[in-house]
Amino acid sequence: MKYSRRQFAGLAAAGIAGIAVAPWQRIAQAAEASADADLVVFNAKVYTVDSRAPKAEAFAVKSGRFIAVGTNADIKGLIAKGNQTYDAKQMTVVPGFIDCHNHAPGEVLLYDVLVGNPYVVEFVTIASIVEKLRAKAQQTPPGTWVEGFFFDDTKVKDNRQLNVHDLDRVSKDHPVVVHHRGGHTSFYNSKALEMADINKRTPDPPGGTFDKDANGDLNGRVTDRARSVFDKVGQRPVFSEEQRLQRARDGLAYISKQFVRYGLTSVHHEGGDLFALQQVRARGELRHRVSYEAMGKALEAMISSGLTTGFGDEWIRLGATSEHGVDGSFSERTMAISRPYIGISPPYQGNLTESQEVLNAWVERVHRAGIQVNCHANGDVAIDRMLTAVERAQKLFPRTDARPKITHCTLINDDLVRRIKALGAVPAVFTSYAYYNSDKFHFYGEDLMKRCMAFRTFLDAGVPVAAGSDFSPGPFDPRMGIQGMVTRTGWNGETWGANQRVSVEEALRINTLNGAYNSHEEAVKGSITPGKLADFVVLADDLHTVAEDKIKDIEIVRTVVGGSTVYQA
Ligand SMILES: [Zn+2]
Repeated sequence: MKYSRRQFAGLAAAGIAGIAVAPWQRIAQAAEASADADLVVFNAKVYTVDSRAPKAEAFAVKSGRFIAVGTNADIKGLIAKGNQTYDAKQMTVVPGFIDCHNHAPGEVLLYDVLVGNPYVVEFVTIASIVEKLRAKAQQTPPGTWVEGFFFDDTKVKDNRQLNVHDLDRVSKDHPVVVHHRGGHTSFYNSKALEMADINKRTPDPPGGTFDKDANGDLNGRVTDRARSVFDKVGQRPVFSEEQRLQRARDGLAYISKQFVRYGLTSVHHEGGDLFALQQVRARGELRHRVSYEAMGKALEAMISSGLTTGFGDEWIRLGATSEHGVDGSFSERTMAISRPYIGISPPYQGNLTESQEVLNAWVERVHRAGIQVNCHANGDVAIDRMLTAVERAQKLFPRTDARPKITHCTLINDDLVRRIKALGAVPAVFTSYAYYNSDKFHFYGEDLMKRCMAFRTFLDAGVPVAAGSDFSPGPFDPRMGIQGMVTRTGWNGETWGANQRVSVEEALRINTLNGAYNSHEEAVKGSITPGKLADFVVLADDLHTVAEDKIKDIEIVRTVVGGSTVYQA
């Protein structure tokens, strides 16, 4: 029997509101509704991430949403002539994965020199970096920047730091820079340092450093805020407005394809060109859903025109702000921590990028504008500062369910967790790091690693922690993330902070439903629940039963967004 529009709307609303109904009740409702489902998936091992009915064998999709979830017998009866069916042949189906922190640098992937592998652990040589940049320099006018991306200082076969002398071999006539994938440190050649008028006597500015070698000479490594001086020197490629837009569109369309290849159906974008994003969507080239995190002019426009978090639709929605920097980086060892870093002299405790007063003012302004605050805070000192600013803003201008977002929230302690819980803050914690960056954990030591990327502690405290790859810094493959969260063992076989392990089931929730919660969208996505958007992934193996160290290798067979297949192996 055909269902009326009203019946469907009612059903969808029930799911959206998250009204607790027994599974059999939902099936009964769905039986009426699904006679003309668009798609029926059956014979699957469905992990719904819906605690009311965690496992299922089949489901039906209509108008881009799940309308019924249940057993093969329940759902197969709903197959009608003309609707699409998919026999999953006992493969595993999970909700689409959600990445809550991603810089989505599609243009870099498409157009720039990549000196490291964006997606997987791969060691490169310094010679290969020099060679790639030299080739670029040969096509670049003197005085114009030659840039390399995706460098990782612990994925170098030479087993030493990249330095100014290496980059002088690229060119003496071009300013040359290699950016660490972590985003907080860069390596410059002599020409660049000279153009910026930096020498070994130049003092470190607030929030950054010009690093030196054992002889006290500049080694080319520059951290955090100290890099801003290079923005003002040298030529950069100039593009017309149409070229610029075209590159932005191409980059977004390209990275969208990569996201769905890895099963990501929703990604929180750190800024980017909103106009280009909408054009990509209009052209049908946007395969994943975007929670757009505004910065700069876009954030100012939101504040001045009264646009708040949640504005938009299920494809492009304004989310939290982009990460407002409070401290440095975990992977590059510049985050602000309450004890000195191991083996660095003079004693160094990381970089704080602004004062408490400036941070207070920024948080207050965004919070008052009805926008979800989002700060980048890695170290315990930085997290304390952010919480202090948010507590202050909440006291002055209370707002319910504000869900201040803490990007990274890496090194915690009991007091910070208590305050996070009290504020209803939502951390988006590095997930792929446990696997990908295990070669960096000795810089912190086991004592601190027990409190870093503290998924177990957050879950035990009832904090809805979510996943944030931070791509470029971390690979965005959710399988790599889940494996690392479950094992805490890295690519090199080292295990750090095993006390923070979570179960596969918990890791799955962190990467799906908790991601939806992070952007206030848990009522419409994050689980396979009637009424929610039909975003799901078909996996060749069951991540709950395969060996834990093989989770990252499970084949992604199909990625579906809103009932439409956007990737197929
Ligand atoms: Zn980031």
